[in-house]
Amino acid sequence: MKSTLNTNTTVGDICDGFVYNELEGKGLFGLGGKLTIQPEYQRNFIYAEKGGSKEQAVILSLLKGYPLGLIYFNTVAQDKFEVLDGQQRITSIGRFVTNKFAIMDNGNPKNFDSLPADQQAKIRESKLLIYECEGTETEIKQWFETINIAGVPLNPQELLNAIYSGTFVTLAKAEFSNSQNSHIQKWRAYVKGSANRQEYLERALDWVSKGDIGGYMSRHRNDTNIKELKNYFNSVIDWVSTVFIDVLPEMKGLEWGRLYEEYHGQSYDPKKLSDAVKKLAADPQVTSRKGIFEYLLGGSVAKKLLAVRVFDDKIKQVAFAKQSQAAKGKSNCPLCAIGDNANTSRIYQFEEMDADHVAAWSKGGDSSAKNCEMLCKTHNQSKGNR
Ligand SMILES: [Zn+2]
Repeated sequence: MKSTLNTNTTVGDICDGFVYNELEGKGLFGLGGKLTIQPEYQRNFIYAEKGGSKEQAVILSLLKGYPLGLIYFNTVAQDKFEVLDGQQRITSIGRFVTNKFAIMDNGNPKNFDSLPADQQAKIRESKLLIYECEGTETEIKQWFETINIAGVPLNPQELLNAIYSGTFVTLAKAEFSNSQNSHIQKWRAYVKGSANRQEYLERALDWVSKGDIGGYMSRHRNDTNIKELKNYFNSVIDWVSTVFIDVLPEMKGLEWGRLYEEYHGQSYDPKKLSDAVKKLAADPQVTSRKGIFEYLLGGSVAKKLLAVRVFDDKIKQVAFAKQSQAAKGKSNCPLCAIGDNANTSRIYQFEEMDADHVAAWSKGGDSSAKNCEMLCKTHNQSKGNR
């Protein structure tokens, strides 16, 4: 890869013909049409989030004459460039110069047009440090993957979008990375994250590819439609919202793709499931509410998913002492005591026993002292497995 340092380009040059797309939240073009600010392997503009403090910092740096750091362009043709690194800084500058946001000056908001002429000139005449890089697509992308960009690091999906950029990624982003998409309202009940950071796209790809996102993106890179991706994602979302008619906060971020694969062939009564969800969600013994959905889908057997409250140590100690005192020549494990082998009179140490619910949790038994019985580990396990 060849790179040339260019120190003559000014902010004014870059902002010539700056176009910002409000809908997609990205800076598109600059440098009189010669520069593509957001090629596919770049992410959506995110400096403007969280109160825009990073956007402000870029402009204040220019006013104070601080360096903005290196900017990298990829030279794609004679006089044609794409921003490889620096898209966020350039978009911040372009947005400011076109009066899209204001900086705070002694408590007063000032947009570009309301700055004094000398300050406007200072910004326009600021020179940028630009490395113009030339190389094969592979070289450029490998390099892009290895640089650790200042500011917000790329997350794994953003990197994959860079590596497998093409028609498929463009279409997929239009559907899943567009924060204006009206379906997001529904998706966010089940999927964590934000459109801008590619988290809906990541989940959709994860589900359709059964976890092999990179492989899937590589195979579909030049596809001119995203039918399979979209249909699969919608199938999962439709399935979960039909089976579970209530929306609980714990549903967000569950492995719905895997659950869909395992259970969508079975039929459920949504009304009954709804009652069961409510009952479990209100049960103080259930400490993992996230597990409720898979527990019910699987036929209410895998109690482990609910992490039902266990007895605390004090309750166990008390039960142990009581049972040991009452043993009278028999074992302090009540099941050993009624057996007919060598353990029938064995007194176990506390560490050799585990607590058991006398009345099972599934039958309404709680984790209080009166429902606690200590059993030797062997008996506890055999009982737990029934
Ligand atoms: Zn026993």
